[in-house]
Amino acid sequence: MAKPALLTVDDDAEVLRAVERDLRRRYGERYRVLRADSGHAALEALRGLKRRNDSVALLLVDQRMPHMTGVEFLGQATVLYPDAKRVLLTAYADTDAAIRAINDARIHHYLLKPWDPPEEHLYPVLDDLLDDWHTCFRPPFEGVRVLGHRWSPQAYAVREFLARNQVPYQWLDAETAERDVEVRRLIHSLGEEAARLPLVLFPDDSSLPRPTTTELAEKLGLRVRAEMAFYDLVIIGGGPAGLAAAVYGASEGLRTVMIEREAPGGQAGMSARIENYLGFPSGLSGGDLTRRGVAQARRFGVEILTPLEATGVSVKGPSRVVQLADGSEIGCKALLIATGVSYRRLDVPGAERLQGSGVYYGSAMTEAMSCKDENVYIIGGANSAGQAAIYLSKFARQVVMLVRGSTLSASMSQYLIDQIKQTPNIQVETGTRVVEVHGDERLEAVSIYCERSGQTEKAPAVALFVFIGAEPRTDWLAGVVERDERGFILTGPDLLLDGKRPRNWTLDRDPYLLETSVSGIFGVGDVRHGSVKRVASGVGEGAIAVQFIHQYLSTV
Ligand SMILES: Cc1cc2nc3c(=O)[nH]c(=O)nc-3n(C[C@H](O)[C@H](O)[C@H](O)COP(=O)(O)OP(=O)(O)OC[C@H]3O[C@@H](n4cnc5c(N)ncnc54)[C@H](O)[C@@H]3O)c2cc1C
Repeated sequence: MAKPALLTVDDDAEVLRAVERDLRRRYGERYRVLRADSGHAALEALRGLKRRNDSVALLLVDQRMPHMTGVEFLGQATVLYPDAKRVLLTAYADTDAAIRAINDARIHHYLLKPWDPPEEHLYPVLDDLLDDWHTCFRPPFEGVRVLGHRWSPQAYAVREFLARNQVPYQWLDAETAERDVEVRRLIHSLGEEAARLPLVLFPDDSSLPRPTTTELAEKLGLRVRAEMAFYDLVIIGGGPAGLAAAVYGASEGLRTVMIEREAPGGQAGMSARIENYLGFPSGLSGGDLTRRGVAQARRFGVEILTPLEATGVSVKGPSRVVQLADGSEIGCKALLIATGVSYRRLDVPGAERLQGSGVYYGSAMTEAMSCKDENVYIIGGANSAGQAAIYLSKFARQVVMLVRGSTLSASMSQYLIDQIKQTPNIQVETGTRVVEVHGDERLEAVSIYCERSGQTEKAPAVALFVFIGAEPRTDWLAGVVERDERGFILTGPDLLLDGKRPRNWTLDRDPYLLETSVSGIFGVGDVRHGSVKRVASGVGEGAIAVQFIHQYLSTV
């Protein structure tokens, strides 16, 4: 943590040096001693400190300065740092002004020049004030801060990106400036920068206004470009299946790169609590699982490129080549596709327009805090919806689950149904569906159709979380590997129709288990036709695939 600052201001260079020297001698170990030679320079310094979220314990200011007196400076400084102790340095002739300032500028003390010896005239006063300051001091947040409007889709995208990439951040809602004094002070210190929100402020004092995810990734040190042009194994998708394959592949000596479009962790990374993964009897959050998986993969030397999307695959002799959204390509001996599934979008009027402004997909954890004491809606009746309901119920006043079917038991695990029953602020409305969402800048209401009554009702709503199933987005693989009619990738025995091998298959063997219709390209996890949609099965498939990759590599 940066040490709190003591700022001394005087236009007389000699006096300024002397004060600084005395402050450093006594307080230099515990505080940063800063100086400025005018009120304007001091205000500029304070704005910089505020922007970095640094704390200021003391302002020690000469009264008689040209352009801005000490009292005038303290009046303005109080807006930025109201809790800093304010001490005025005066000549004997200014004593009256100093006494008046106790009331006008709410100064805490005035000192007469000269203050020698400081042990007698300076330190006792400052010791007392600084002790007092410390008792009320709350250390400021030190990481990344995001200032933006709650209902802005861009601000939402930034928060979602940081959360999913495990970057701790503080969210500052610009709309709370009137009632949140910290937000107001920060906006005040930013000047013109505050007009370009969302603004991401970093601890090194740099900032990014309206950043793209690639700009954020680069700033945060995430890797978005491959180190080499060719690898033993390229993995597309960083969910549980891709991560497991990365760990097994790299730990067994394969030069491995993993390409992830959004953030490692995949769907599992969005889970508030995974309760059925072996070895974690009290469950673990998707974030925790991801953090461990990423650390393990990195430890074995896996290169993780994110955010980066694979947009195509081609076959060039023995090489498998992946085309990437930034226009580059990576070649490899073996390719593993672990791209999972993505949430199906809610296809009702208003939903697309309000995405990120009240309509959310799978982001219950990012938004939960913002839903404090509000009524929120969830669409869906499967496990992911159930987990989100339990999680949101800890923050929201009321969580209403809108379920199309007549019961939850057809689609949800019993342990979740039991938890929902025991949570008083979750209400389950079966036989219902959302037919329209309303709002100009943000979600304001949802229209809900009830099958039993045949009526549609419009209910006020600030947040709607959508969990209505998922689909594999694999159009970019069309014409390369064989897929079923829904886009899931066919592998192993599923490729053999009436015992016949796939078209264009040239090898004198059947495709391995988990191998696609192109030799050397494997498919695992939720994206695979017939897969069990579970974390453990994805992890298992990722690990098993590496065994077949070794067998394949031994032949090329
Ligand atoms: C909210 C929620 C809760 C869940 N809870 C549980 C649970 O408690 N227990 C359980 O066993 N299962 C649970 N599941 C299911 C489980 O998370 C999935 O079965 C599992 O994550 C599938 O892993 P995967 O690696 O196959 O795919 P995914 O997790 O879907 O990961 C695929 C990854 O590939 C990336 N990707 C996609 N296309 C591209 C591309 N073109 N280029 C680069 N990257 C790409 C995606 O961004 C994603 O990160 C839950 C799912 C959800 C959504």
